[in-house]
Amino acid sequence: MELYDLYCKFPRILTDSRQVVAGGIFFALHGETFDGNRYAAAAVGAGAAAAVIDDPAVTDGMSAAEKANYFVVPDTLKALQELAARHRRQLGIPILAITGSNGKTTTKELISRTLKRKYRVAVTQGNFNNHIGVPLTLLAMDRSAEFGVVEMGASHCGEIALLCSIAQPDFGLITNIGKAHLEGFGGIEGVMRGKGELLDYLQTHGGTAFYSSESEYLAQMIGKRKGLQAVPYSTAGMTAAEKGNYLTVRKGATEIRTHLVGDYNIGNVAAAIAVGGHFGVPEQQIVAAIESYEPDNNRSQRKAGARNTLIMDAYNANPSSMRAALANFAKEPSEQPKAVVLGDMGELGKYAEAEHAGIVELLQQLGIGEVYLVGKLFSEAGRGIYPAFADAAALNEYLQEHPIHGRLILVKGSRTMKLESVAERL
Ligand code: ATP
Ligand code: MG
Repeated sequence: MELYDLYCKFPRILTDSRQVVAGGIFFALHGETFDGNRYAAAAVGAGAAAAVIDDPAVTDGMSAAEKANYFVVPDTLKALQELAARHRRQLGIPILAITGSNGKTTTKELISRTLKRKYRVAVTQGNFNNHIGVPLTLLAMDRSAEFGVVEMGASHCGEIALLCSIAQPDFGLITNIGKAHLEGFGGIEGVMRGKGELLDYLQTHGGTAFYSSESEYLAQMIGKRKGLQAVPYSTAGMTAAEKGNYLTVRKGATEIRTHLVGDYNIGNVAAAIAVGGHFGVPEQQIVAAIESYEPDNNRSQRKAGARNTLIMDAYNANPSSMRAALANFAKEPSEQPKAVVLGDMGELGKYAEAEHAGIVELLQQLGIGEVYLVGKLFSEAGRGIYPAFADAAALNEYLQEHPIHGRLILVKGSRTMKLESVAERL
């Protein structure tokens, strides 16, 4: 039997042997510290319909009947990606791919909720946006889906091209071009090239790109690709104000009361309005869909802490999103005094020192008085200017002895800084 036929019979893919559901197909993927082949037998034992492996030694000593449960391929990751590509072709539905430096998940949620008002939409769960997450997203789409929305993340050139070859999008949207993953992309030019791979795919396959005409980078990238069908959108005529804790966006007589924090989300809202409008979702429905989204997972979430009000943005951080978050925070009206807890921004390579120094400079310009810096890079950059702590545990210790009360606190840093643990003290 071919792998595809097997999948048609058992259309559920598992990659974690601890979560084996009877009748699923286990793919023995490789990680930095693990080899899925070692768990294949456990998966089959737990009821998996089959295990796809790339180490034939797994079945050594097994009887022919036992071996029948194993599917040996040269490379399990490649097999997963090829299976997803084939399934995607069979689905034959329109797929919209979303990439960009910041705001992919937020935009994906706003757009998929909007399209759900008209279509049965299958969408990336959470942040499953990489070379494994995208195939899994596609393989989770069943025949009832009428529209697919797929988030694509990348930290190097070539990754988006690979994801496009798998997901074969008909539509694409790049949220923005910013300073994220500078290490892997090698500067902003590299980011443009890397994200541009989505536009290349759309151009050669007759697809359509949605893009913010307010981004010079994006306008330039679209302009360079002659013949690419492009639908511009912008925030012109829209205003955003943080009212009652959340962002309210106005466009003409329309008011959208989002559950988002941060005025930079106006661009994400504009994207959802543009895509919804393009596909004929009535305006009232677009508004209701946008209003229904409440972020989770510490992504720009407003929370009541034990002693303070928190804006938790501890899910990710890069120079662009850090600047946007700080600028927004500084101008947000607040009765409470403001403070910020900032953690190091990862994956910046040779740009790390200058970018952290730039944020410290911005903090001074914005006049945010109470600042706690966490991490090696910020400690260097903020030396003698702001209190700094080697890691979250050190700040926690300090806060235990010097608790702070009644503030509005922005908590932002890369996931690796584990700033959510600081929130428990706030
Ligand atoms: P990841 O690379 O982790 O998948 P993402 O691109 O999916 O991130 P989101 O999860 O939507 O991004 O948002 C993460 C954070 O990025 C937000 O909490 C916010 O701080 C910031 N952000 C969101 N939208 C924008 C935007 N349009 N411009 C700048 N920063 C933004
Ligand atoms: Mg994301």
